[in-house]
Amino acid sequence: MMLSLEKQVALVTGASSGLGYACAEALAEAGASVVINYHSQAEPADELASRIRDRGGEAISVKGDVSKEADVDNLIEHAVDRFGSLDILVANSGLQKDAAFADMTLEQWNGVLDVNLTGQFLCARAALRQFRRQGARPDVSRAMGKIIHMSSVHQLIPWAGHANYAASKGGVDLLMRTLAQEVGEERIRVNSIAPGAIATAINEENTQGDAGKKLLELIPYGRVGEPQDVANAVVWLASDLSDYVHGTTLFIDGGMSLYPGFRNNG
Ligand code: NAD
Repeated sequence: MMLSLEKQVALVTGASSGLGYACAEALAEAGASVVINYHSQAEPADELASRIRDRGGEAISVKGDVSKEADVDNLIEHAVDRFGSLDILVANSGLQKDAAFADMTLEQWNGVLDVNLTGQFLCARAALRQFRRQGARPDVSRAMGKIIHMSSVHQLIPWAGHANYAASKGGVDLLMRTLAQEVGEERIRVNSIAPGAIATAINEENTQGDAGKKLLELIPYGRVGEPQDVANAVVWLASDLSDYVHGTTLFIDGGMSLYPGFRNNG
């Protein structure tokens, strides 16, 4: 079976940078029409959309805050108005507001939960409603729709100084698995990707220089990830090649979740 997303429409949230940007570009290369959501950086999102169009693909960029219900509904409307359907959601948007636990403000806590967990809920709910409205499209995909949540190794690994972030990603895990259990019989596939350390803006301080060298101690495979590592997995998860993969988290982490601290222990 060939990997092709021809005639499918993908929405990628938070796609003006980092993993979302790479995922949107890779989905377009695989043949999907892409809605590139951005929060505040219009320029890179517009530039990506026009680059995809120049290569013969289809893409638009749409502003929206995934923590706001009306914005999320607007994103789906744009996808359907412009391309006629929605087949793939990559709920990627996320942020960190780090603080030691005793110093963490309610604003920092809510700010992260609003985007990283409520945003995932709002996007998945809106996509599900759209999948049901449009029904199965067996000529296009074996699944009626595909939802990919961007989680993190920190849905599993506790992370001191980042309680809001780790709690949000732990929440994404049970959100994803519960939704998968609920809608699987409708042939809607729901999965997560859990990146480890991938070199993007969100973790610039940790992946470069001395901090970068220290980080490698946590990665058995011996290198920091690149956005393309995640994008490749997203394309596969969105395609029929992974048609029997449902309700699972794919860790793209060079082995970070293997408890590498135990390598030289005992
Ligand atoms: P990034 O900062 O480049 O991307 C995050 C994107 O989310 C940005 O484009 C930002 O504008 C967008 N965003 C923030 N708030 C938003 C909102 N309210 N509405 C819409 N979009 C919003 O960082 P990234 O590394 O590309 O992160 C992407 C996702 O991957 C996040 O969910 C992050 O938690 C996850 N992740 C990243 C890594 C890593 O190592 N880079 C590891 C694990 C998980």
